[in-house]
Amino acid sequence: MKKLIVGNWKMNGLASSLAEIEALKGLTGEAACDIVVCPPFTLVEKAVERARGSGIAIGAQDCHAQTSGAYTGDVSAEMLAEIGARFVILGHSERRSAYKEMDAVVAGKAAAVHGAGLVSIICVGETREERDEGRAIKVVRAQLEASIPNTATSSNTTIAYEPVWAIGTGLVPTLEQIEEIHSSIRQALEKRLGENGQGVRILYGGSVKASNAKAIFGVSNVDGALVGGASLKASEFAGIITAAA
Ligand code: PEP
Repeated sequence: MKKLIVGNWKMNGLASSLAEIEALKGLTGEAACDIVVCPPFTLVEKAVERARGSGIAIGAQDCHAQTSGAYTGDVSAEMLAEIGARFVILGHSERRSAYKEMDAVVAGKAAAVHGAGLVSIICVGETREERDEGRAIKVVRAQLEASIPNTATSSNTTIAYEPVWAIGTGLVPTLEQIEEIHSSIRQALEKRLGENGQGVRILYGGSVKASNAKAIFGVSNVDGALVGGASLKASEFAGIITAAA
Protein backbone atom coordinates (compact mmCIF):
# COMPACT_ATOMS: atom_id res chain seq x y z
CA MET A 1 0.00 0.00 0.00
CA LYS A 2 1.32 3.49 -0.86
CA LYS A 3 2.28 5.25 2.36
CA LEU A 4 0.58 8.46 3.50
CA ILE A 5 2.42 11.14 5.46
CA VAL A 6 0.25 13.80 7.08
CA GLY A 7 1.52 16.96 8.75
CA ASN A 8 -0.63 18.48 11.50
CA TRP A 9 0.41 22.07 12.10
CA LYS A 10 -2.08 22.39 15.01
CA MET A 11 -2.60 26.08 15.99
CA ASN A 12 0.66 27.19 14.41
CA GLY A 13 1.30 29.26 11.34
CA LEU A 14 0.71 32.68 9.84
CA ALA A 15 0.80 33.46 6.12
CA SER A 16 4.60 33.50 6.23
CA SER A 17 4.56 29.79 7.17
CA LEU A 18 3.27 28.95 3.70
CA ALA A 19 6.89 29.21 2.60
CA GLU A 20 7.31 25.78 4.22
CA ILE A 21 4.90 24.32 1.66
CA GLU A 22 6.89 25.97 -1.09
CA ALA A 23 10.11 24.50 0.35
CA LEU A 24 8.49 21.08 0.72
CA LYS A 25 7.59 21.06 -2.96
CA GLY A 26 11.24 21.53 -3.80
CA LEU A 27 12.48 18.95 -1.31
CA THR A 28 10.07 16.12 -2.06
CA GLY A 29 9.71 16.41 -5.84
CA GLU A 30 8.14 13.18 -7.08
CA ALA A 31 7.72 11.53 -3.70
CA ALA A 32 6.90 7.84 -3.58
CA CYS A 33 4.23 8.42 -0.94
CA ASP A 34 1.11 10.57 -0.60
CA ILE A 35 1.67 13.83 1.30
CA VAL A 36 -0.90 15.93 3.16
CA VAL A 37 -0.39 19.17 5.09
CA CYS A 38 -3.08 20.28 7.55
CA PRO A 39 -2.57 23.94 8.50
CA PRO A 40 -4.99 25.93 10.70
CA PHE A 41 -8.34 26.87 9.06
CA THR A 42 -7.10 30.37 8.23
CA LEU A 43 -4.41 29.03 5.93
CA VAL A 44 -6.24 26.17 4.22
CA GLU A 45 -7.31 28.10 1.12
CA LYS A 46 -3.95 29.80 0.68
CA ALA A 47 -2.17 26.47 1.23
CA VAL A 48 -4.30 24.87 -1.50
CA GLU A 49 -3.16 27.62 -3.88
CA ARG A 50 0.50 27.20 -2.90
CA ALA A 51 0.39 23.40 -3.25
CA ARG A 52 -1.35 23.43 -6.63
CA GLY A 53 0.51 21.41 -9.26
CA SER A 54 2.52 19.51 -6.64
CA GLY A 55 1.75 16.12 -5.14
CA ILE A 56 0.89 17.77 -1.81
CA ALA A 57 -2.77 17.69 -0.73
CA ILE A 58 -4.17 20.03 1.92
CA GLY A 59 -6.38 19.06 4.84
CA ALA A 60 -8.02 20.61 7.90
CA GLN A 61 -7.78 19.65 11.57
CA ASP A 62 -11.49 19.45 12.46
CA CYS A 63 -14.99 20.27 11.21
CA HIS A 64 -18.61 20.26 12.39
CA ALA A 65 -20.99 17.35 11.80
CA GLN A 66 -23.68 19.58 10.27
CA THR A 67 -23.55 21.19 6.84
CA SER A 68 -24.64 24.64 8.07
CA GLY A 69 -26.60 26.28 10.88
CA ALA A 70 -26.38 28.09 14.20
CA TYR A 71 -22.99 26.73 15.31
CA THR A 72 -20.97 29.83 16.17
CA GLY A 73 -17.29 29.45 15.47
CA ASP A 74 -17.58 26.15 13.60
CA VAL A 75 -16.69 25.18 10.04
CA SER A 76 -18.45 22.49 7.99
CA ALA A 77 -16.92 19.80 5.80
CA GLU A 78 -18.75 21.31 2.83
CA MET A 79 -17.01 24.66 3.46
CA LEU A 80 -13.64 22.92 3.58
CA ALA A 81 -14.38 21.04 0.37
CA GLU A 82 -15.32 24.31 -1.35
CA ILE A 83 -11.90 25.82 -0.66
CA GLY A 84 -10.04 22.74 -1.86
CA ALA A 85 -9.28 20.75 1.31
CA ARG A 86 -9.23 17.01 0.66
CA PHE A 87 -8.64 15.54 4.13
CA VAL A 88 -9.91 16.30 7.65
CA ILE A 89 -8.26 15.12 10.88
CA LEU A 90 -10.95 14.09 13.40
CA GLY A 91 -10.92 13.05 17.04
CA HIS A 92 -7.35 14.14 17.70
CA SER A 93 -6.57 13.49 21.36
CA GLU A 94 -6.13 17.23 21.95
CA ARG A 95 -9.76 17.73 20.87
CA ARG A 96 -10.97 14.65 22.72
CA SER A 97 -9.44 15.98 25.96
CA ALA A 98 -9.86 19.77 25.62
CA TYR A 99 -13.37 19.71 24.09
CA LYS A 100 -14.58 16.39 25.50
CA GLU A 101 -15.23 15.08 22.00
CA MET A 102 -16.76 11.65 22.37
CA ASP A 103 -16.56 8.82 19.83
CA ALA A 104 -20.13 9.44 18.63
CA VAL A 105 -19.27 13.07 17.87
CA VAL A 106 -16.21 11.95 15.92
CA ALA A 107 -18.35 9.45 13.96
CA GLY A 108 -20.87 12.20 13.12
CA LYS A 109 -18.09 14.46 11.86
CA ALA A 110 -16.58 11.63 9.82
CA ALA A 111 -19.94 10.96 8.15
CA ALA A 112 -20.14 14.67 7.26
CA VAL A 113 -16.62 14.54 5.82
CA HIS A 114 -17.57 11.54 3.68
CA GLY A 115 -20.76 13.30 2.60
CA ALA A 116 -18.68 16.23 1.37
CA GLY A 117 -16.45 13.90 -0.65
CA LEU A 118 -13.41 14.28 1.62
CA VAL A 119 -11.21 11.78 3.44
CA SER A 120 -11.44 11.46 7.23
CA ILE A 121 -8.33 10.80 9.31
CA ILE A 122 -9.83 9.34 12.48
CA CYS A 123 -7.49 9.42 15.49
CA VAL A 124 -7.50 6.85 18.28
CA GLY A 125 -5.06 6.12 21.08
CA GLU A 126 -4.70 5.18 24.72
CA THR A 127 -3.44 7.28 27.65
CA ARG A 128 -0.33 6.34 29.64
CA GLU A 129 -2.54 5.12 32.46
CA GLU A 130 -4.59 2.90 30.16
CA ARG A 131 -1.41 1.37 28.71
CA ASP A 132 0.09 0.78 32.15
CA GLU A 133 -3.11 -0.99 33.18
CA GLY A 134 -2.81 -3.32 30.14
CA ARG A 135 -5.90 -1.86 28.48
CA ALA A 136 -4.37 -0.24 25.36
CA ILE A 137 -5.83 -2.66 22.81
CA LYS A 138 -9.24 -2.71 24.45
CA VAL A 139 -9.43 1.10 24.59
CA VAL A 140 -8.28 1.58 21.01
CA ARG A 141 -10.67 -1.08 19.67
CA ALA A 142 -13.60 0.53 21.50
CA GLN A 143 -12.72 4.01 20.19
CA LEU A 144 -12.36 2.64 16.69
CA GLU A 145 -15.67 0.79 16.72
CA ALA A 146 -17.61 3.85 17.93
CA SER A 147 -15.76 6.53 15.91
CA ILE A 148 -16.12 4.97 12.44
CA PRO A 149 -19.45 5.78 10.74
CA ASN A 150 -21.29 3.42 8.41
CA THR A 151 -20.27 5.62 5.46
CA ALA A 152 -16.62 4.51 5.82
CA THR A 153 -14.78 2.86 2.93
CA SER A 154 -11.11 2.25 2.19
CA SER A 155 -11.00 5.34 -0.03
CA ASN A 156 -12.63 7.85 2.34
CA THR A 157 -11.19 6.70 5.67
CA THR A 158 -7.73 6.64 7.23
CA ILE A 159 -7.01 5.69 10.84
CA ALA A 160 -4.26 7.31 12.91
CA TYR A 161 -3.07 5.39 15.96
CA GLU A 162 -1.67 8.03 18.30
CA PRO A 163 -0.85 6.98 21.85
CA VAL A 164 -1.70 10.11 23.88
CA TRP A 165 1.50 9.76 25.92
CA ALA A 166 3.65 9.83 22.77
CA ILE A 167 2.21 13.05 21.31
CA GLY A 168 4.67 15.93 21.60
CA THR A 169 6.66 14.17 24.33
CA GLY A 170 9.56 12.61 22.43
CA LEU A 171 8.40 9.21 23.75
CA VAL A 172 7.66 6.49 21.19
CA PRO A 173 6.26 3.00 21.82
CA THR A 174 8.54 0.07 20.97
CA LEU A 175 8.21 -1.29 17.45
CA GLU A 176 6.60 -4.41 18.97
CA GLN A 177 3.98 -2.27 20.73
CA ILE A 178 3.22 -0.40 17.50
CA GLU A 179 2.93 -3.69 15.59
CA GLU A 180 0.60 -5.17 18.19
CA ILE A 181 -1.83 -2.27 18.08
CA HIS A 182 -1.70 -1.81 14.30
CA SER A 183 -2.42 -5.47 13.67
CA SER A 184 -5.31 -5.31 16.12
CA ILE A 185 -6.66 -2.23 14.33
CA ARG A 186 -6.37 -4.07 10.98
CA GLN A 187 -8.35 -7.01 12.38
CA ALA A 188 -11.03 -4.66 13.70
CA LEU A 189 -11.25 -2.86 10.35
CA GLU A 190 -11.61 -6.14 8.46
CA LYS A 191 -14.30 -7.29 10.84
CA ARG A 192 -16.19 -4.03 10.51
CA LEU A 193 -15.66 -3.17 6.83
CA GLY A 194 -14.93 -6.54 5.21
CA GLU A 195 -12.62 -6.23 2.18
CA ASN A 196 -12.60 -2.45 2.56
CA GLY A 197 -10.87 -2.95 5.90
CA GLN A 198 -7.79 -4.31 4.13
CA GLY A 199 -7.37 -1.11 2.14
CA VAL A 200 -7.76 1.44 4.94
CA ARG A 201 -4.41 3.08 5.70
CA ILE A 202 -3.36 2.95 9.35
CA LEU A 203 -0.97 5.76 10.30
CA TYR A 204 1.23 5.87 13.37
CA GLY A 205 1.46 9.24 15.18
CA GLY A 206 3.41 10.40 18.22
CA SER A 207 6.90 11.96 18.17
CA VAL A 208 7.74 10.77 14.65
CA LYS A 209 10.95 12.40 13.39
CA ALA A 210 13.24 11.93 10.42
CA SER A 211 15.54 9.90 12.70
CA ASN A 212 12.98 7.29 13.81
CA ALA A 213 10.64 7.24 10.79
CA LYS A 214 12.38 4.51 8.76
CA ALA A 215 12.18 1.96 11.60
CA ILE A 216 8.51 2.78 12.26
CA PHE A 217 7.63 2.48 8.56
CA GLY A 218 9.18 -1.00 8.55
CA VAL A 219 6.54 -2.27 10.99
CA SER A 220 3.76 -4.30 9.38
CA ASN A 221 0.41 -2.52 9.03
CA VAL A 222 2.06 0.89 9.44
CA ASP A 223 0.90 2.67 6.29
CA GLY A 224 2.32 6.10 7.06
CA ALA A 225 2.47 8.72 9.78
CA LEU A 226 0.59 11.61 11.33
CA VAL A 227 3.24 14.13 12.29
CA GLY A 228 2.86 17.14 14.58
CA GLY A 229 5.95 19.09 15.62
CA ALA A 230 8.25 17.66 12.97
CA SER A 231 5.90 18.77 10.17
CA LEU A 232 6.40 22.47 10.87
CA LYS A 233 9.80 22.68 9.18
CA ALA A 234 9.97 21.46 5.58
CA SER A 235 13.50 20.08 6.00
CA GLU A 236 12.54 17.78 8.90
CA PHE A 237 9.20 16.81 7.35
CA ALA A 238 10.94 15.99 4.06
CA GLY A 239 13.24 13.62 5.97
CA ILE A 240 10.18 11.68 7.15
CA ILE A 241 8.73 11.63 3.63
CA THR A 242 12.01 10.31 2.24
CA ALA A 243 12.03 7.57 4.88
CA ALA A 244 8.66 6.37 3.57
CA ALA A 245 9.98 5.78 0.06
C1 PEP B 1 0.02 14.98 16.53
O1 PEP B 1 -0.27 16.06 16.99
O2 PEP B 1 -0.81 14.36 15.88
C2 PEP B 1 1.36 14.44 16.77
C3 PEP B 1 1.61 13.21 16.44
O3 PEP B 1 2.28 15.31 17.35
P1 PEP B 1 3.87 15.06 17.49
O4 PEP B 1 4.36 14.49 16.19
O5 PEP B 1 4.43 16.41 17.77
O6 PEP B 1 4.07 14.09 18.61
